[in-house]
Amino acid sequence: MQLQTILNQVEPFKSFLYRKVRWGTSEAEGDRPVLEVLIEPRANGRALCSGCGCAAPGYDRLAQRRFEFVPLWGIAVFFLYSMRRVACPRCGVTVEQVPWCEGKHSLTTTYRWFLAGWAKRLSWKGVAEAFHTTWQNVFRSVKDAVSWGLTHRDLSGIESLGVDEVQWQCGHKYLTLVYQIDSGCKRLLWIGQERTTKTFLRFFRWLGKERSRGLKFIAATCGGPT
Ligand SMILES: [Zn+2]
Repeated sequence: MQLQTILNQVEPFKSFLYRKVRWGTSEAEGDRPVLEVLIEPRANGRALCSGCGCAAPGYDRLAQRRFEFVPLWGIAVFFLYSMRRVACPRCGVTVEQVPWCEGKHSLTTTYRWFLAGWAKRLSWKGVAEAFHTTWQNVFRSVKDAVSWGLTHRDLSGIESLGVDEVQWQCGHKYLTLVYQIDSGCKRLLWIGQERTTKTFLRFFRWLGKERSRGLKFIAATCGGPT
């Protein structure tokens, strides 16, 4: 079985194909070999504008970019792809939208969810070490997962909160983490910069008067997995 067959199973794309998998190197990985997966657009696949999501005529192609995917057998995996730019009638010249990554991220969306998932079980530092990535990458993945949760999940019925602080790795900056710790629903709700009263006020402003009134219990630390 070829690796492309596995990739088509776990991360299938309609308009792109996994053309080739080869050994490569990565600065961050030191001497360890990595897997490089070359991606190309399908012959009939039109590029989509990242501004409006509509198909648009091609403009040019940018230099090849690397996007880190979930490691396989402990080997780091990178997607390699040269983004097309399109001349969108509505948005002007924009970079195309690709299904494996958003914006300027260097980690694929699937890898970011993977890291955020492990960050529920291990400390952020532990996740970074286990998967040979940086603390910042883990932090950003968790932050994105939390923001996604805030817009897509039901926030009603929050009664108990746990508040933790975590020191920014390499530096004296702190983050305030607020968890919902109700039985049956334990999750990281909110991440704030610094650990001051202002940070906390920002949290309550975000939570809103209605939901704040529903709170019954706040613990200073809850030993969250950071
Ligand atoms: Zn557009």
